[in-house]
Amino acid sequence: MKEVLLCKYGELILKGANRSYFENLLLKELKTRIRRAGNFDVYKAQSTIYIEPLDDSCDLDLALEYAKKVFGIVTIDRACVAEKNMDAIFRAAKEYLPQFLTGAKTFRADARRADKTFPLKSPELAGEIGAAVLEAMPRLKVDLDHPDVTVRVEIRERGAYIHAGQIKGAGGMPLGSSGKGLLLLSGGIDSPVAGFMMAKRGVTLEALHFESFPYTSERAREKVLELARLLCEYTTHIKVHVISLTHIQEELVKSCDEDYFTLLLRRFMMTLADRVARRNKCGALITGESLAQVASQTMRAIAVTDSCADMPVFRPCIGLDKEEIITIARRIGTFETSILPYEDCCTVFTPRHPKTRPEPEKVLAEQNKVDFKALCDEAFETLNTYDIRIDEE
Ligand code: ATP
Ligand code: MG
Repeated sequence: MKEVLLCKYGELILKGANRSYFENLLLKELKTRIRRAGNFDVYKAQSTIYIEPLDDSCDLDLALEYAKKVFGIVTIDRACVAEKNMDAIFRAAKEYLPQFLTGAKTFRADARRADKTFPLKSPELAGEIGAAVLEAMPRLKVDLDHPDVTVRVEIRERGAYIHAGQIKGAGGMPLGSSGKGLLLLSGGIDSPVAGFMMAKRGVTLEALHFESFPYTSERAREKVLELARLLCEYTTHIKVHVISLTHIQEELVKSCDEDYFTLLLRRFMMTLADRVARRNKCGALITGESLAQVASQTMRAIAVTDSCADMPVFRPCIGLDKEEIITIARRIGTFETSILPYEDCCTVFTPRHPKTRPEPEKVLAEQNKVDFKALCDEAFETLNTYDIRIDEE
């Protein structure tokens, strides 16, 4: 029996004239991701994207796992395809549906007739499918209001699709439909989650990591590249830029009041990030900040660092508790890598009494003790870029 996946998208249908633009982005992304599971025909028709195996190399289970990570898809049906006549549909339903009903006590049958030339109307069709299920599994009861499982047949252009138990997709908007953002990616728990959340809203990601070699190690950088690779499960491709802050940090330690180190360092980071973003046509910065999580994330501290960027700064974790961020990190698969214990440049030279309510004038006075612009220019020269993408055997 031929099995396929039917991917359905919700929110983007609302987009009127832009609809086919969104659909095409989705289709392109899906094709790239699915390719790793074999040779599939991926095409759209009637507000659905079809994923059909073309030969025996195809692993439909794997394709399903990949499709579940493509933003913009709301639900996925794993369906068998039958010819568009009642005999074939009845037989296919009897054979295919029981595997989805083994633990169920009740079910309901639904039908949708997108091809209006099909002789049976939807309610009659639903009745036939229900009868097929009851013939195969007589112990089941019909429950129209609260069924354990809903089985469905859809009469579409190329065939009759029979399925049960809809699978939840990743939701959100297709990648690229909301422009490109530069994610400030540390090795921590929060920033990969922030990247994931913005990618879900359709933002293509590039990433920027700051290191402080030899105070931070080669392995710390490897960890960040691995986090980017894990995010690629949702974004296919991420360019990771790496800039060294070593000299900046040494100058800060030499010249400035220790209580202001972190704030000043973050002002350097935001300034450099703004520059990298502009150079790479990113329209926003993205950080994993969460209000009041640490001294540099109070409202006043954020105000002092935010002013260094001349573009929107998205902070999708701002209202989340650590536990909530960790829940997402576990779900998307970045948590275990994030907690590997390597140094981050923010944790070297940490002040003992960081300012939580900094006065902007005092911050500027401290900043003026070093040559801010020259240090930025010099740091920018250390930029290295890595192309990270999903493995495409
Ligand atoms: P995370 O868990 O994401 O590391 P955090 O709780 O450790 O966050 P901070 O160290 O204050 O918080 O960093 C806040 C945000 O600043 C991070 O979420 C990240 O976006 C950015 N950031 C911090 N360190 C770096 C770094 N070394 N390179 C790039 N961005 C960084
Ligand atoms: Mg951190």
